[in-house]
Amino acid sequence: MELLKQRILEDGKCYPGGILKVDSFINHQMDPDLMCRIGEEFARLYEGSGINKIVTIEASGIAPAIMTGAVMHLPVVFVKKKQPKTMENMLTSVIHSFTKDRDYTVCISADFLSSRDHILFIDDFLAYGNAALGIIDLAAQAGATIEGFGFIIEKAFQDGGNRLRSMGYRVESLARVASLDNCQISLL
Ligand code: 5GP
Repeated sequence: MELLKQRILEDGKCYPGGILKVDSFINHQMDPDLMCRIGEEFARLYEGSGINKIVTIEASGIAPAIMTGAVMHLPVVFVKKKQPKTMENMLTSVIHSFTKDRDYTVCISADFLSSRDHILFIDDFLAYGNAALGIIDLAAQAGATIEGFGFIIEKAFQDGGNRLRSMGYRVESLARVASLDNCQISLL
């Protein structure tokens, strides 16, 4: 994904605390051509992996998850950050937010995640892996199998990638950031 790497280097902005902002092409304004390519790449990487469902968390994961689901012709399930009163068979998990530095509860209906499911979890960023751990918890509650994780950007200088890979999960990241030291973006 040379195009993605080029955009990160050209348009990404770094902030203190190891935060990378990609608001102009992913998180606030989105480049649909790039997002299509991202979906195609995840679909290519996970082709033949027996996945029957894409799962993501509101809100930033929705765009890449939909693009991947569209290419793979699979349903896309959104784990929600607000608990609707009307949700039936709710499963919940508590996640620590890296960017907001607080805990929040996410939920999903067991109607849409069950022991029949083999899921690919898609998100925009992998930092410390807390969101992914929440998904692992929800999948365990539902009896679903996680076939892999797909992140647009992995911050390799934070611990999430090691955590997930050492647990035996397949993790595919389309761009890996080696460092944001001195506000210089360096990619692996
Ligand atoms: P983790 O759960 O892996 O610690 O953090 C991943 C989540 O936090 C992602 O869903 C993403 O929305 C957010 N996040 C983590 N680091 C960054 C970052 O550097 N930039 C942006 N825009 N979001 C981040």
